[in-house]
Order: sequence, then C-alpha cells, then structure tokens
Amino acid sequence: MNSTNPTTRPKIVVVGVPYDDNSSFMRGTAAAPPAIRKAFHSDSSNMCAEDGLDLTDHPHIHDMGDVNPAGGSGASCAMAYIEKYYSGLLEKGFHVISLGGDHAITLPIIRAYAEKYAALTILQLDAHPDLYDELDGNPYSHACPFARIMEENLVDHLMQVGIRTTNPHQQDQANRFQVEVIDMKAMDAGAKIHVSGDVYISLDLDVLDPAFAPGVSHHEPGGMSTREVLRIIQGVEGRIVGADIVEMNPTRDLNGVTAMVAAKFLKEIIGKMLK
Ligand code: MN
Ligand code: MN
Repeated sequence: MNSTNPTTRPKIVVVGVPYDDNSSFMRGTAAAPPAIRKAFHSDSSNMCAEDGLDLTDHPHIHDMGDVNPAGGSGASCAMAYIEKYYSGLLEKGFHVISLGGDHAITLPIIRAYAEKYAALTILQLDAHPDLYDELDGNPYSHACPFARIMEENLVDHLMQVGIRTTNPHQQDQANRFQVEVIDMKAMDAGAKIHVSGDVYISLDLDVLDPAFAPGVSHHEPGGMSTREVLRIIQGVEGRIVGADIVEMNPTRDLNGVTAMVAAKFLKEIIGKMLK
C-alpha cells in the first residue's frame, strides 16, 4: 500500500475511521486502524493476496490515513462529517475500504454510496443483525445501522451472513425490511451465498468464532472460521465497489492475532477488487 506518492491515480483507497462513540457494551474499536495497518505491513508475511497479486507499493492502492469525526459534537454531526468525506472520495471515482471503528460507521458510508450507486447490494458478515430500532435510546448505536439503511432505502438488497443472535424484535425488523438472512444454522446446512451487481462488503469481525478473532467487543461463540470468511470473499460474484472491516478491538486482542486476521481480509478484499 503506497502511503506517500502514488505514481498513478489509485483506484482503491483505504481509510481508517477511529470512532467508537456509538458502541453499546464496551469501547476500544477506535484503536483498530493503526493495529490493522501494522499487521498489514508486518514482515511476518508477504504482501501477496492468495491469487498471487503483489500489493507492495501497488499504484492502484492508496492509504488516505484516518478520518476522525470525534470531538464531542454528537452522533448526528459525526455521521454528517463521515458522509461528506466519503462523498468527496466517491466523486473522485475511488472504491473505498474502511477500517473501523464500530459498526455505526457503516450508515454514513452507505449514505454516501447511495448517492452514486443506485442498486447496491450489501453483503454483511456479522454475528448480529444490527437491526435494532434503537438501543439505549441511541438510533445511531452500532446495533442499529442496518435499520437506518433499510428505512432510508439506501440499497437494493441486504444479505446478512453468519447471524446467530436474532431476537424477536430483530426478526420482525428483518421481515419488515425483507432482509435475506443466511444464519449460521443455514451455513451448517450448506447454504450458498450468491450476490451480484455492485456489492459492498460490510465485515464485522465478530462473524468469526472468538477462537479465531478474540479481539472484538462482543464474543459470540459458534461462528465462522477464518477460512470460511476468505472463501466467501473470494467467491463474490459481481463487482466489489467498497468494503468495511469493523469491530476489531485491540484491547481484547491476544498476541495481535485478530489484527493479523483483519489484515488478511484487507489483502484478500483488495486482491478481489483488483482482479
Ligand atoms: Mn455488526
Ligand atoms: Mn457483530
């Protein structure tokens, strides 16, 4: 990833969003972007995606650094700030990969994407539906972004994969918004994932079993393996036009293993986007 002088115009930009004001259970995901970048550039591995594409100083990838909306101005101001920043990037024709932060950041990012992409499909990988109408009185909670996205008609289709925490309220919401849900039980039964057209991947690292990714705020047992997530990323039909990797919490990580998993996913998403 070239962070200084891109020799040609980059197609993919990486943006850190160190923002966790809307986390419900514990804070800490704001510290994830530097941890993921450090793992991405670690000498313990090379810079190749599994298809052999070498990402070292690749001219079509550029790290924009962080956009930091924090500052005590409240959630709606932060959301507007993030949306405006992303609108500027999308106007320039970039495809953006974001490093969270908690899952609340996906709402303003998708608000910006919706201005440019008329028929976006979101592939959300997550232990949780994140469809609450509100949580603890906060409509911008990281438990709510996909309720707002669907209410605002920002996307054509939402597919949720890896879910294993549905309660009656969120089941009602999923029905109301016609969300396509492939939960962990359906995965066990061999369900296949088909998404096409313009695809945005929203990757909440708690989709993984905590054995593979202990560095997340919400440990939810019974999740996917790292390999299963890689298989899903590599198997996406259609064009990936953006992605986020969210909910990594360095304060709970063990020996940096979750940061390495996040960096691996970053590599594979970039590799797939440049194919
Ligand atoms: Mn989530
Ligand atoms: Mn989650």
